[in-house]
Amino acid sequence: MPLFLVATPIGNLGDITERAREVLAACDAIVAEDTRHTGKLLHHLGVHKPLLSLPAFDEGSRAPALVARLRDGQSLALCTDAGTPAISDPGALLVREAVEAGIAIIPIPGPCAAAAAVSASGFAEGRFHFAGFLPRAEGERAALLHELKGLRAQLVFYEAPTRLRETLHDLQSALGDRPAMVARELTKLHEELARGTLSQLQSHFADEVRGECAIVVSGASAQVAVADPQALENEVRARLSRGERPKEIAEALAMEHGKREVYQLALKLRDA
Ligand code: SAM
Repeated sequence: MPLFLVATPIGNLGDITERAREVLAACDAIVAEDTRHTGKLLHHLGVHKPLLSLPAFDEGSRAPALVARLRDGQSLALCTDAGTPAISDPGALLVREAVEAGIAIIPIPGPCAAAAAVSASGFAEGRFHFAGFLPRAEGERAALLHELKGLRAQLVFYEAPTRLRETLHDLQSALGDRPAMVARELTKLHEELARGTLSQLQSHFADEVRGECAIVVSGASAQVAVADPQALENEVRARLSRGERPKEIAEALAMEHGKREVYQLALKLRDA
């Protein structure tokens, strides 16, 4: 029987899909990252099912027993605490082992913080790269950011509120002072989409930050493209329209162009 991967709300319970409800009500058992957390959602939905636990730290040792159940003909629905399973959440290993065992996998799409943040970014690149949580170790973090620096795609990161400012700083150091957006508390009462360069966002989030955050950083494409004068003009216009000052724009694009040249252009376009 299949393994359903059921996306659940990332804050607003109204985001549960009709299909998610149906699958949760119809499956034999629900596999949860945290049974207490998912238990609350099921209570809200009026669904009563056996719950099996799949915590992130123990996925490897618990997956085989779950695959055995699927092989025996049970249908299981995997829910994580919030959003889409296997997206910076447990699930990928269980899916891999289930695939190897010939089990059908059925995703039930729904909320995902990364998708919601990218959809709201407005950045010009039509592509995005999901990087999730950056490694904590300095060397690994720097190596990964170096790898991502040239990507002509928006970069999406997850981060805890307590480390947001430090991560924005590391992103600026490694990628340059690019336009970015922090999506905080998506779908919740205090939802905020903060836009600005990475340095501006550090100032914006200088005080204690609360709530969950996803970061979208614009890709290398705009910076690479500034070799073309028209592309440079478009980039400067876009930054002016986001409220950046000529001095900030000149600093942000200094590595690809003369700082002075960009500054003069920004002044001209601003005052035109
Ligand atoms: N599987 C989830 C998904 O589909 O988005 C992500 C789970 S991951 C363990 C949790 C991280 O997702 C948070 O630290 C935060 O970066 C991001 N996140 C989750 N809910 C969010 C929300 N409501 N607003 C902004 N970011 C959120």
